[in-house]
Amino acid sequence: MVLKDRIAIITGGSSGIGRGIALEFAREGARIAIADKQETPLRGKYHETDVTTPTVAEIEKLGARGIFLQTDVADESQVAHTLNRTVEHFGGLDILVNNAGIHIPGGAQALSIADWDKVVGVNLRGVFVATKLAIPHLKRSKFGRMLQIASVHAYGGGAGPAYAPAKAAIVNMVRDTALELGPFGITVNAICPGYIETAIQDYLTPEQIEEALEKTALPRFGLPRDIGRAAVFLASDDAAWITGASLLVDGGFAAGV
Ligand code: NDP
Repeated sequence: MVLKDRIAIITGGSSGIGRGIALEFAREGARIAIADKQETPLRGKYHETDVTTPTVAEIEKLGARGIFLQTDVADESQVAHTLNRTVEHFGGLDILVNNAGIHIPGGAQALSIADWDKVVGVNLRGVFVATKLAIPHLKRSKFGRMLQIASVHAYGGGAGPAYAPAKAAIVNMVRDTALELGPFGITVNAICPGYIETAIQDYLTPEQIEEALEKTALPRFGLPRDIGRAAVFLASDDAAWITGASLLVDGGFAAGV
């Protein structure tokens, strides 16, 4: 168990990729706080159609400890409360996974300014807020780790004028934060997933999904578990000397761009 007794917070951990990361962390012995707006997992129209049990129930089935803390990452007072509750409940914080994210479809003409603010508010500002507020706690850990879930869309256009630029900013932010936190022994890295089978894909048409599969080198889409295993590696001692990096976990999608 490479994360035995490590204490982690995973934002957006009720569903999709965050849930996948939580379950892999649980298999590796971590104690996990799920920080999400709601405990009930999202069910998608294409993927995750039959998910019903809360993530904490699944964590407990794996013999690990979990707690759900209702949190909207767009609200800094809620994020601060979640950090404090996690530290009180488990006795510290070793790993922060900033995974919560939203996508609202539409190009520069269709997307409203309010929706642009909403996407950037969760996907970029929300990551900064949790990052900033977690630093004092992570500095007290001997194994401080920060993982930001960006996207393959950080590297190209096509996912709208809010989502993709926010993800590109995360790739830059991990470099900046890695420089600042290196002297404290805290590593800061991003994972850039390709198409992962979660409810976030509900806005796509079946034709767009087919096209995404054709652009993925490996002959299947990714699963939340695929990101979970990469997250376990980056959170573990095996990745102790990796910081400021952004790891593509995309089945080869970006290889063809
Ligand atoms: P899902 O929509 O399946 O899950 C996202 C989770 O985040 C949901 O539980 C959602 O809660 C929660 N969430 C949304 N907004 C907030 C908020 N303000 N505060 C707290 N929690 C929130 O998405 P994925 O699992 O697919 O995405 C996870 C991350 O991975 C995102 O950052 C996404 O951009 C990124 N990503 C996903 C890819 C994919 O193909 N799936 C590809 C590349 C990146 P609620 O149910 O309340 O909405």
